[in-house]
Amino acid sequence: MRILFLGAPGSGKGTQAENASDLFGIPTISTGAILRESIKAETEAGKAAKVFTDAGKLVPDEIMIAIIKDRLVQADCESGFLLDGFPRTIPQAEALDAMGVDIDVVVNIHVDDATIIERMSGRRVCPDCGSTYHLIYNAPKSIGNCDKCGAKLSIRDDDLPEVVKKRLDIYHEQTEPLIQYYTRKGKLKTVIGQEEVADTTHLTVETITKFGKAKFRAEDL
Ligand code: AMP
Repeated sequence: MRILFLGAPGSGKGTQAENASDLFGIPTISTGAILRESIKAETEAGKAAKVFTDAGKLVPDEIMIAIIKDRLVQADCESGFLLDGFPRTIPQAEALDAMGVDIDVVVNIHVDDATIIERMSGRRVCPDCGSTYHLIYNAPKSIGNCDKCGAKLSIRDDDLPEVVKKRLDIYHEQTEPLIQYYTRKGKLKTVIGQEEVADTTHLTVETITKFGKAKFRAEDL
């Protein structure tokens, strides 16, 4: 099963991808998370990417395509994967096609810009294990600390308000055309992001089970 998640930054696609990954037992490949790990480890690719991520800009296609090519050939991707944050441009989608990756369904999580701006101000991330939280929608059990590893949570530089605005502009310009791209291929299914994360999860799982050749149904949850 190969699933692709589309959605603006802050639409909740990362949370939905993590939930679906647990439920369906296939790995989530998050290019944002891969980049954050490389930046933290100060690798050459990480240093090159940091300039772009800090400014809220997209990392150049050739760097991203090389990262995804390396990742998708790893053994854990054999029985499927969920892509979160890739592709983000038409050339990236074309590269995925050229790699022969056959996507079962593209889940497009739709949330309007005003809601996204409100949501992103509450986002927190664990700098140690990469888990993500939201102070209102997905609060950690102990405020300020990671549920999984206990580290102190922080705000990502790219969640700062002025950076968020820029990321949304870039999303509309460069990533939104993918909605048309996958609609034309008959792969796109839109899920309207709900106020409650659990409601969006239900709709997402329903979509994946219906169109993504999954083995169980949303009603079984
Ligand atoms: P995310 O965690 O998916 O919101 O990604 C964080 C940042 O990483 C983005 O704002 C981009 O700067 C960069 N990034 C992640 N995935 C991609 C991609 N497929 N293409 C270009 N830049 C990306």
